[in-house]
Amino acid sequence: MARKKRFRKIKIAWKRSETVWGMAYPDEHRIELDDRMTDVTLIEVASHEVAHVVLPVLDEEAVELLGRHIADVLTRLGFRRAVEE
Ligand SMILES: [Zn+2]
Repeated sequence: MARKKRFRKIKIAWKRSETVWGMAYPDEHRIELDDRMTDVTLIEVASHEVAHVVLPVLDEEAVELLGRHIADVLTRLGFRRAVEE
């Protein structure tokens, strides 16, 4: 029987790259994100990298589609980064 999947916090690190906005390391349960993204792009890339970590069976096309849909819905609901004073 398959083991029940439990919630486990994904480690998040800010890391600038000249080639990608984000990276996922499923084996380490960790993602890296570039802090220079716009809010909409950040929501999309973060969702995308989380999908790679949590659902590694998904192929790139499915992950891409999921990220775009989550970003579309969350930005239409008004989600943005909090502005730091
Ligand atoms: Zn990907």
